[in-house]
Amino acid sequence: MFGEEYDVIVVGAGHAGAEAAAAAANLGSKTLLITMNLQTIGQMSCNPAMGGIAKGQIVREIDALGGYSGIVSDKSAIQFKMLNKSKGPAMWSPRTQNDRMRFAEEWRLMLERTPNVDFYQEMVSGLLVENNKIIGVKTSLGIDIKSKSVVLTNGTFLNGLIHIGEKQFGGGRAGEKAATGITEQLLSLGFESGRMKTGTPPRVDGRSLDYSKMIVQPGDTVPEKFSYTNTKPLSHQRDCHMTHTSALVHDLLREGFDRSPMFNGRIKSTGPRYCPSIEDKINRFADKDSHQMFIEPEGWETVEVYVNGFSTSLPEDIQFKALRSVVGFEKVKFFRPGYAIEYDYFPPTQLKHTLETKLIENLYFAGQINGTTGYEEAASQGLMAGINAHLKLNEKEPLILKRNEAYIGVLIDDLITKGTEEPYRMFTSRAEYRTLLRQDNADLRLTPLSYSIGLASEERMNRMEEKLEQSDSLINFFKETSVLPNEINPILTSVDSALVKQSDKMYKAFSRPNVTMDHMLQLEKVSNFIKENNFNSEVLEQAEVQIKYSGYIAKEKVNADKLHRLEAVKIPTNFDYSKLKSLSFEAREKLTKIQPVTISQASRISGVTPSDISVLLVFLGR
Ligand code: FAD
Repeated sequence: MFGEEYDVIVVGAGHAGAEAAAAAANLGSKTLLITMNLQTIGQMSCNPAMGGIAKGQIVREIDALGGYSGIVSDKSAIQFKMLNKSKGPAMWSPRTQNDRMRFAEEWRLMLERTPNVDFYQEMVSGLLVENNKIIGVKTSLGIDIKSKSVVLTNGTFLNGLIHIGEKQFGGGRAGEKAATGITEQLLSLGFESGRMKTGTPPRVDGRSLDYSKMIVQPGDTVPEKFSYTNTKPLSHQRDCHMTHTSALVHDLLREGFDRSPMFNGRIKSTGPRYCPSIEDKINRFADKDSHQMFIEPEGWETVEVYVNGFSTSLPEDIQFKALRSVVGFEKVKFFRPGYAIEYDYFPPTQLKHTLETKLIENLYFAGQINGTTGYEEAASQGLMAGINAHLKLNEKEPLILKRNEAYIGVLIDDLITKGTEEPYRMFTSRAEYRTLLRQDNADLRLTPLSYSIGLASEERMNRMEEKLEQSDSLINFFKETSVLPNEINPILTSVDSALVKQSDKMYKAFSRPNVTMDHMLQLEKVSNFIKENNFNSEVLEQAEVQIKYSGYIAKEKVNADKLHRLEAVKIPTNFDYSKLKSLSFEAREKLTKIQPVTISQASRISGVTPSDISVLLVFLGR
């Protein structure tokens, strides 16, 4: 360790750091992972869950590229849900509830089993820079460690300041100290920094809750999983529960507003718009006297419970009193109060698409330090920074994912080209090619790219090729095989509009609305073909999505071309956005403030989504 020179030093072992270290090391770089506390590798700072809308797609993309987040999530999952199953497949989003302690343990074990990773526990307090090039890091004990490149993934730790009511103290996360030194040095090197804020709810003792008064939220009957490798889906699951706040709870919370750091001006930075605190929700949606709360177990055995939807930095006595008025929480006991944290971030417009900084060669930033929020967003940036740090050292072409290739491409392009003034989280609406960027085809989109740079294993690549071959063969079977009305119509009695009048190819019948693979499987020819070829559920899903949505995919491509052609359309001065109710609230707010001159300018404003642009185009008659 001391005296050795590394190829890549990764500072911080949160989601970004862990992925960065794994990627660089798996590609063959001699890697050192330095973190303030080796017990908190892969720590979930907030809710014990991975994935969800758009984030689930990112986890599958990380997995397809050979990252570890999907495998770790599968191994530590306690519940699985495919969200949005009632919508089109572009919206299907896998989500797991996880055992917080096992998640961190799995991460540590995965990294310990990865060749080329060294570990060291200490705070990095400075960077070694020579002629605008990174040459290593300096630790708080004054040790210099040399390295050809450095990936900074400090998360919420840079000058972190924790707030609970009127109390405030330094910290990177509850019970962990803040990191100092790095921001100050980066500023002296010419970087710009900003402050952001995030918050977390109280954790409570599950034994003190009355679940009989709440609504059970079970996992999927047939749970799936994240990883395209051979991890196992869950054989049993833990339930979550749902309850609600009430007018009484809101009144009790309001009693603490004058002591709230959010309202008395002590917190000045911006928090995540889509993860608001309960006091924020009460304030912003004053007409609503009830908000949902999801009661999520923190693991298989622990009695600790996460109170999703009740993030707060109000004084702890107020949190406690209000919580005791929630149905099912009448006898609640606290494990820890909720809190808010402010931390430094670096506007990501200071980075290249590889996540290397423009100012200092071979210095990379990934994760919350770039103004994002969320484990998945952080992990995916870590993966890409680790990959690109290695590729650059080996004089290879960078790996930059395009917006039509991956959510990760959308995320990084948004950050680099638009920057962000508030914690950035991914949404399906941020991706203009979302019908192409589905959770079911992340392996088809990305594994070949990763294999070509030497990260995805041969086994992973073979699995992907087999799936592709088999789904193509199944699609061809539907294209080539005919079906008679008397064979298919009895099966489609519940789908009247799909009844077939004459012999036709199966593909055509299958393409009709509401006809599903389950219908087709009732045809002996189909079930025999699938059995003979031993096709699994992933192959069936892939073929089904490609057949059913081929029209949407083609249409999306046409729309994308149109959008590009119309980029220079002028918007009248002082345009009144308030009359366009189909614009998102965020878009109306930002467009009114910024008053862009062209559609092209509007599209680059953070928070204005491709669908907002479509609304504007329609209104402007394009
Ligand atoms: P982190 O997970 O924060 O990891 C940073 C790592 O760097 C840690 O291991 C730390 O020890 C190490 N480190 C930092 N500085 C140094 C240094 N100088 N030397 C050595 N090691 C260092 N996300 C959501 O999506 N929704 C939420 O509601 C939400 N709420 C949150 C609430 C709180 C209170 C916190 C703290 C975070 C919350 N997050 C939330 C954010 C989520 O935790 C992060 O987005 C995610 O963990 C970021 O990952 P990261 O790898 O960038 O950083």
